Amino acid sequence: MNQAKIIDGLAVSKALREEVLRRAASLKEEGITPGLAVILVGNDPASAVYVRNKVKACEQNGLFSTLDRLPVDVTEAQLIARIRELNVDPNVHGILVQLPLPRHINSHQVIEAISAEKDVDGFHVANAGALLTGLPKFRPCTPYGVMKMLKAYEIPTVGMNAVVIGRSNIVGKPMALMLLDAGATVTVCHSKTKDLSYHTLTADIVVAAVGRRNILTGGMIKPGATVIDVGMNKNEEGKLCGDVDFASVREIAGYVTPVPGGVGPMTITMLLVNTLESAERTAQIEARGSMESDLEAGKA
Ligand code: NAP
Repeated sequence: MNQAKIIDGLAVSKALREEVLRRAASLKEEGITPGLAVILVGNDPASAVYVRNKVKACEQNGLFSTLDRLPVDVTEAQLIARIRELNVDPNVHGILVQLPLPRHINSHQVIEAISAEKDVDGFHVANAGALLTGLPKFRPCTPYGVMKMLKAYEIPTVGMNAVVIGRSNIVGKPMALMLLDAGATVTVCHSKTKDLSYHTLTADIVVAAVGRRNILTGGMIKPGATVIDVGMNKNEEGKLCGDVDFASVREIAGYVTPVPGGVGPMTITMLLVNTLESAERTAQIEARGSMESDLEAGKA
């Protein structure tokens, strides 16, 4: 019986985090500590856990972080005013506003208020546009993590048929763009897709990003396909599970990501990578600035 190879998100994540730690240490020698500012609005318990994990990951991997906990009735104007302060804080290289926001706040306005130079989630339209035009600066963390997993396991993308199930702005659409950029022929499926299996059965790579259990089963994939499960759901016992029927898919696929232990750990890791790279860009700008002033002063 075929048993697909497991793509171990924890292992890929660990290797990347070691690299973040190393690169953060070398930035520190230049006097720069990569900094992430996190803003949490309200008391949603799931959001509080996500935020805590992000702050902890910063601490463990050589980054500095701040956490603003704003009350649930904070106004949009107050939230944006805080973002504007962080936009000009030289110690902050990344700003993250935990979503979802309370209904009285327009998330789009809030995301657009974050400086595109510090938008480590990659949700600002400037960064979405940069990804679309093939010149990305900040890539959304979850699909960026998926690309790193494919690379770590040397899974080819050039000339491959890829199907992305889901078309959200934070996962499905940027995932499709990244796979396209990596040379795949990409099909995007969604809730209006008439026959999901028709598309998935010819795919070399399937990424499921729906939020619905068992949306993809073994009978819907091509033998040897790579299956990436982005979904996060709860089963009847309240345990975390993905969108993919892991047991049946594992018998047909070549590679599959588990839930938990697959894409999940990669998302926070890519947030660290985006913050680190933002700080590295700042360091380069500062170095260029001091070289230019040396030239002006006739020192070089
Ligand atoms: P979302 O905004 O709700 O988008 C879900 C997408 O699935 C939509 O495009 C929707 O189509 C599509 N869809 C719904 N039912 C479908 C069906 N029967 N067949 C095909 N497509 C269908 O969700 P999201 O933010 O992209 O997240 C997707 C999942 O990934 C969730 O479970 C989320 O918790 C998880 N997630 C995990 C991580 C991680 O770190 N592991 C990070 C982010 C998200 P329409 O556009 O037509 O409605």
